[in-house]
Amino acid sequence: MLPLITHPAYDIPLPDGHRFPATNFSALMQHMERTGLLHSFEIFHPEPASRQDLKITQHPDYIDAIAEGTLDPAALRILGLNWSQVLANRSFLAVNGTLLTARKALERGLACHAAGGTHHAHFAHGAGYCVFNDLAYTATRLINDGAVGNVLILDCDVHQGDGTARILQDNVSVFTCSVHCRENYPARKALSDLDVEIPKGTGDEGYLAYLATALEEIDRQMPRIDLVLYDAGIDVHEGDRLGLLNLTYEGISRRDSHVIRHFRERSIPVATVIGGGYGHDIREVAARHASVFQSAADMG
Ligand SMILES: [Zn+2]
Repeated sequence: MLPLITHPAYDIPLPDGHRFPATNFSALMQHMERTGLLHSFEIFHPEPASRQDLKITQHPDYIDAIAEGTLDPAALRILGLNWSQVLANRSFLAVNGTLLTARKALERGLACHAAGGTHHAHFAHGAGYCVFNDLAYTATRLINDGAVGNVLILDCDVHQGDGTARILQDNVSVFTCSVHCRENYPARKALSDLDVEIPKGTGDEGYLAYLATALEEIDRQMPRIDLVLYDAGIDVHEGDRLGLLNLTYEGISRRDSHVIRHFRERSIPVATVIGGGYGHDIREVAARHASVFQSAADMG
């Protein structure tokens, strides 16, 4: 059975009508239970990260402000979430959820986090619904611990992984690749090690061609990869409320299967995170997020 990392405290309490799907995380678990997909997985829960742990990739003052609820209104507006003790707790849990997923992937080859992909979080501030950057934190910790020599972060969320790119810009052991829609947030893009900018309105075939080119380029630039962190954001879907690409569910499924197969065929461990996905119907969004778990189960 494949490791699946989750926590009952992952949901974020938000006012009705907020654009972030607050009960996304429990809805995804319920969807997988309903469809039987959960039977393919063994479930693990993370422990919260400590403030000390997080200092490797987040500013100490920012960590304290999240823990204590002292972020100023301007910072909260950029973050896009209302502060609550529940939000603080789940933020410390979710970063370690991605770390645990990566550790399980190193043991077993493949593991999935039912959260994660908070790639807009920067060193000293949150942004775009992202409190702490789980991808930068996980990659940096595993390298510092000597668990891996290098990490590839392959970010296929429709939005650029700008926070990840900036936090890791001087870390030569992490290769950041962002495959995103050119016209989507953020307006001012960061510089990843490899950015693949896809024009808005691109559908399945066009998207998968860009992805194939990105994987070839990664093969060229990284002769050896110890671990892949794969952000399988589903805001590339044609029905997404924020994303400007036009992938079908089938296109997303082909993307996820292609990425996982590509690296597993080379015996490279893959840890997946769910990334973004936005819609009015929480069950529909959950079904889209399930794609990467289905692809992993089919492969596992
Ligand atoms: Zn996104």
